[in-house]
Amino acid sequence: MYQDLQSLKQRISLLDYLRLRHWTARPIGDHQEFVGLCPLHPETHPSFYVNAAKNVFYCHGCGRGGDLIRFVQLSLNLSFREALVHLKQQLGLPEPGEDEALRETVDFYQQQLARHSEALDYLRRRGVHDRRLIEQLAIGYAPGGRLYRHLIGLGYPANLLMRLGLIYHGKDAFYRRVVFPCFDGSRPINLYGRSISGAVRHRFLPRSKAGLFAWSTVGNYPEVILVEGVFDLAVLWQAGFISTTCAFGVRLTDAQFSQLSDRMDRTVFIAFDSDPAGQKAACALGRRLQNVGLNARIVDLPPGQDPNSYFVEGAWPAEFARRLREARCP
Ligand SMILES: [Zn+2]
Repeated sequence: MYQDLQSLKQRISLLDYLRLRHWTARPIGDHQEFVGLCPLHPETHPSFYVNAAKNVFYCHGCGRGGDLIRFVQLSLNLSFREALVHLKQQLGLPEPGEDEALRETVDFYQQQLARHSEALDYLRRRGVHDRRLIEQLAIGYAPGGRLYRHLIGLGYPANLLMRLGLIYHGKDAFYRRVVFPCFDGSRPINLYGRSISGAVRHRFLPRSKAGLFAWSTVGNYPEVILVEGVFDLAVLWQAGFISTTCAFGVRLTDAQFSQLSDRMDRTVFIAFDSDPAGQKAACALGRRLQNVGLNARIVDLPPGQDPNSYFVEGAWPAEFARRLREARCP
C-alpha cells in the first residue's frame, strides 16, 4: 500500500494533476509556489496555493490542504483507497489483479479481527492469544457480507473476485471464519478459513494451497516440526517452536514432500494427533522420509490429544521440548 502510494506520487505531481484538470495559476516567489482559484470551493479571489517542491496544497479560503491523494479525495468525494484506484485509472496503470485482490482481502480480514469479539474469543479458546503472533501469521476474521462491497469499492471487477473464489453467488464465500493466509514468501496464495460456528469446518479458496505453511522461513531450519493443522502450528509458534510447519492434514502433496526432503541433513519431528489415524499416518510418513534419507521422529502426545489441545490444556514449552527429545523412530 505504502509503496503503491509513493510510486503514484512519483508518477504524477499535484501540479500536473491540477493542470490536467485545467487549473490555471500564476507562479509566485521563486516559482516553487503557485496560486489560483480554489477548485474545492467557489471564489473570485485566488487563495489556493500549491507548493510544487513539497507537492502539497493549501487553500486560505476553505482552510483545506494536503497532498495529491487528499486533493483527489476532497474534489471527488472519495475514500483514501478509492482515490488511489481513481489515480491509477487516470494514469492508465494496469487493472488491479489477483495478487492485489488477495492482499487487500488479507488486510481487510486482519482489520475485521479486532472488531469482532467472537473471533478473538474463538482464538483464545484455541489457545492463541499473543498479539504479535496474530500479527505475524496475519490472522484475520471474515465476518461475512462485507468483503464484496469493500473490494468492489476499490475497483476490483466482480468476475475477478468470483474467479478467485472470494465471492460465490454474489456473496462472500467466507462467513464467520477465522482466516489464516497461506503465503509463498510474502505473496498470499490461498486463504484457510476455520469456521467458528456450525458450518463446514475447513475451507480454502478453490486454488492451489501452495506448499508447506510458512516454508520460506521454516525451511531454513535443519530440524522442523510437522503438525496437522494451523492451530497446532499457532500454539507451537507461540510457545517458541518457530520451526513448525503444517500441511493442512496428514497427507502431503508431492510438492510438500519435496520441500521437506530438500536437504538431507534435516530431521523431521512429526507431531500428529495421538488418535490411531494420526499415528498411522505419522508412521507411514516417517518411514517414507527415512526411505529418502532423512531423519524422522514421531512425537508422542498424551492419549486423545493433538499439539493444540495439549497446549490449550496448559502444557509448558519445556514439557513439549522433552517430548521432542524423547521422540521415537517411526
Ligand atoms: Zn478552497
